[in-house]
Amino acid sequence: MHVKELECNAFQPLRTQLVVRIQLPYTRGLFRGSLTDRSQSVTKIKATNITWHEGHVSQEEREKLLNQKGALIWFTGLSGSGKSTIAYTLEHALVQRGHLSYVLDGDNIRHGLNKNLGFSADDRTENIRRIGEVGKLYVDTGVITLTAFISPYRADRQIARETVGDDRFFEVFCDTPLDVCEERDPKGLYKKARAGEIKGFTGIDDPYEAPEKPEMVIDTSKVSPQEAAVSLCEMLEKAGLIAGLGE
Ligand code: ADP
Repeated sequence: MHVKELECNAFQPLRTQLVVRIQLPYTRGLFRGSLTDRSQSVTKIKATNITWHEGHVSQEEREKLLNQKGALIWFTGLSGSGKSTIAYTLEHALVQRGHLSYVLDGDNIRHGLNKNLGFSADDRTENIRRIGEVGKLYVDTGVITLTAFISPYRADRQIARETVGDDRFFEVFCDTPLDVCEERDPKGLYKKARAGEIKGFTGIDDPYEAPEKPEMVIDTSKVSPQEAAVSLCEMLEKAGLIAGLGE
């Protein structure tokens, strides 16, 4: 697919009606051997007398309705590295191609679901744990879900991967140099962090642990959001999650 096609494709209305049954996520994916102690302490089930209830509609049936497979594209990188911009560009491109896609954006989620969390190490871990669980529900519905969170800790991203399942999880590292992010400073946060008005800012006085084996690396100082979206669509095609154009 060419960049121009992304920009010019007429919007194709979704052909299908989504029927979704959301299940509580607690019986699979948790308490596996590789989870860290810290995450285990926050993921313990508190409730007693709860039983997993199986629905009558399978993920496969939902995916057939949607003509796609659910996946979680996990964007990670410094603030200003382009995660949200690329995620929303990709969402738009996928919808234009007739696929259901949805962005879970870091700042937006912190206005609601995660409004009770700050930026301490534990809160950052809990922030990402919840997004992994929500992402898993979205994937179960068959939606191509895009998350845009700094998600600075490798172990937390690994937990999200294990929660969702390796075959449906795609880590995309927005590997944009710090000086470029700082130059862009779209929210004026680097300026505040340099002035000491924000403490514990990732990349300045809080660590960012780069992915070791991401599914894709994008340096947005070299690649436009449209070009990135094209590459990501190709990645989804190759993985068999969406059909190629013209198929
Ligand atoms: P993040 O979600 O990683 O914090 P944003 O997407 O909010 O980053 O901000 C990235 C900023 O960089 C935006 O103002 C965007 O317009 C700009 N930008 C410039 N070039 C690119 C590019 N190639 N890809 C993504 N963003 C870019």
